[in-house]
Amino acid sequence: MEQKALECPICKSNKATIAGENVKLSGRFEDKEFITTELTVLCCTKCGYYMFFDKMAQFTTKEDTKNST
Ligand SMILES: [Zn+2]
Repeated sequence: MEQKALECPICKSNKATIAGENVKLSGRFEDKEFITTELTVLCCTKCGYYMFFDKMAQFTTKEDTKNST
């Protein structure tokens, strides 16, 4: 009975189960590595869509390249 009032962006269902808590994701995009803060992962009970909620995503770059805007 782990349900929260929310809305799935895919099927608009408002029921989801908690698939994981305090989950950290890391990965790489092009030449940048990133790691997220602790996330709560919810899984839509209707369509199975995973939703990730975090307080603040943290991004780090391998090389300290600065964009000149
Ligand atoms: Zn859904």
